[in-house]
Amino acid sequence: MYDLIIIGAGPAGMSAAVYASRSGLNTLILDGGAPGGKLNLTAEIENYPGKQIVAGPELAYDMFEHATRFGAVYEYGMVKEIKDLGEHKEVITEENTYETKAVLIATGTKERKIGIPNEEEMTGRGVSYCAVCDGAFFGGEEVAVIGGGNSALEEAMYLTKFASKVHLIVRRDVFRADKIVQDKLNENDKIEIHFLKKPVEIEVDQENNKVSGLVLEDSQSKERSTLKVTGIFPFVGADPVTEFAKGLDILDERGYVITNEDMATQCPGIYAAGDVRKKFLRQVVTATNDGAIAAQAINRDMFE
Ligand code: NAP
Repeated sequence: MYDLIIIGAGPAGMSAAVYASRSGLNTLILDGGAPGGKLNLTAEIENYPGKQIVAGPELAYDMFEHATRFGAVYEYGMVKEIKDLGEHKEVITEENTYETKAVLIATGTKERKIGIPNEEEMTGRGVSYCAVCDGAFFGGEEVAVIGGGNSALEEAMYLTKFASKVHLIVRRDVFRADKIVQDKLNENDKIEIHFLKKPVEIEVDQENNKVSGLVLEDSQSKERSTLKVTGIFPFVGADPVTEFAKGLDILDERGYVITNEDMATQCPGIYAAGDVRKKFLRQVVTATNDGAIAAQAINRDMFE
């Protein structure tokens, strides 16, 4: 029987692991992917206090070392269900059933697909949701980034390190990204912005079974045009990873976990932290903040 099982080894989960294990709680961190969560997919972070600029995977590594330093144990496990049995909970993965007194959901969000023809078939063959992982494959080639939020703009700038040109496709005539990010983007002459353009289809080079273009539709005239690109990077937002918690009556209509300011859900012993939570600001710093509060609250409410 664990004191605490943290589901998700992103910034929220790893911060909670530091606080919980340092307070003496017998803590297990479960994750179905590499520790670090979305940090692993982020080229550079420049708004995490104390690190003026840091590569996402580097911060992920440092956080993981820190998270396990005080005795928290990390195990691979894709959680399928949480069973609330009152005084204790069962956390069920594909391979195991774990028993614990408290659960912290810190599973973050998963990137949204655009949902256009050939997107799924071409994933890994020119379509990628991770510029850090795949950008280098497109050295000297033209690529397209889809989206107008912070992720799209930041990853578009990162891709100019490799690509000869980056086309940024924005469906409205305004960005959603912060002004400071927009200002930086405007200084980059390798990026061409296409406002009011909707991606409608991915063209495939049949001979090599690879991406050869992106078909766009003008949002006003509905006229279609094709960009000859070999790489397509959609960054069109994300949805919470909470399938496994659907039976618990702790989610809002979009699937985010509802908590109070101590990160507690309405189910005693079940807490949530980070991007998976219904909240105003989703950042690394707010995720680590949530994790710290959750661990302290769990310790105070259940173990003191
Ligand atoms: P986001 O802010 O929700 O932006 C998504 C973008 O994709 C919007 O421009 C949206 O257009 C567009 N879009 C959505 N569906 C589309 C579709 N089917 N086709 C074409 N375009 C589509 O998502 P995000 O950039 O992933 O950011 C998620 C959160 O993380 C945000 O809160 C963001 O501030 C935060 N974040 C922060 C930083 C930072 O502070 N440095 C970095 C990365 C992410 P519309 O505007 O028309 O809806």
